Amino acid sequence: MRFSVGIDLGGTNIKAGLVSELGEIIQDIITPTNADSGEKAIASRISHTICQLINRGNSFGVGLQDIAGIGIGAAGLIEPVEGVVHFSPNFAGWHDIPLAGLVQEDLAQNSTNCKISALPIVLENDGNAMAFGELCHGAGVNVRNLVSLTLGTGVGGGIVIDGSIFHGSRNAGAELGHTIIQSNGRLCGCGNYGCLEAYVGRQYIIERTRRKIVAEGRYSSLEGNLNDLTPKMISDAAEKGDEVAVDIFVETGKCIGVALTSLAHILNPEMAIIGGGIADAGETLLFEPIRSELKKRAMDTNADSMRVVKAQLGNQAGLVGSAMLVFQN
Ligand SMILES: [Zn+2]
Repeated sequence: MRFSVGIDLGGTNIKAGLVSELGEIIQDIITPTNADSGEKAIASRISHTICQLINRGNSFGVGLQDIAGIGIGAAGLIEPVEGVVHFSPNFAGWHDIPLAGLVQEDLAQNSTNCKISALPIVLENDGNAMAFGELCHGAGVNVRNLVSLTLGTGVGGGIVIDGSIFHGSRNAGAELGHTIIQSNGRLCGCGNYGCLEAYVGRQYIIERTRRKIVAEGRYSSLEGNLNDLTPKMISDAAEKGDEVAVDIFVETGKCIGVALTSLAHILNPEMAIIGGGIADAGETLLFEPIRSELKKRAMDTNADSMRVVKAQLGNQAGLVGSAMLVFQN
């Protein structure tokens, strides 16, 4: 059995795991990213985590010779071959940071076993890594063409075509959160108007709930929680029949259905995988509205051939996907 190390480098935490080629996480570690500490400090924290995992692997009978490499997933514009982060929303001021090289240098300087630094490091956009994780060991097993959306503060995207991640000409492809769903819509964090992310990102879901209750004066069981609302609270209320909360998820589902209609027409994928915390709202609240909007809008063949399913790997998709990249290369 072969193994690899997968790293999901987020703005808040570094999640790392020693993963078998079957997608089983043998050991994992979560450590704070300290996003403001600079690229060298972050590379060093990643390298330290890698050494810890490899040492722990030893006690499970996984030797260095069994480890094929290291995969790192990070948000932003990533150059996978060179291992460079051109820019990242999680790390203000990062421009053209050779992250894979920095990690490798730190491993060479500090790992007690110098052979660790000889392991290949693959860097990938986190949305792409999640799509690849789901393809290898999640909802997309045996699927050749899929799109994936990860709903959170922002909306991550990934596209798999013929079993491989689609990068685009300069690795800036698959920014599915910036699919336009309203030509004169809300301002998005990217500077454009009407992007999917501007409608289904965490903050706007919360803001819209507040507005329905305060500005529109609708009754809701969430009235007492207006200052600390979370999508989870809104979905819990919706499950108990709160009408405002139900409307919020129906609207969110419709927005996603509109975006998927474009993707169904452009790519005709077999599957759309929806993950991230907001997807936990589940079948009735979220997935049925998505599917009915898609069915209403898309051409029959395009709608019928695209299954819309929930991600299976949960918040481990990025970690598992990053680890699997090593075996692809
Ligand atoms: Zn945008």
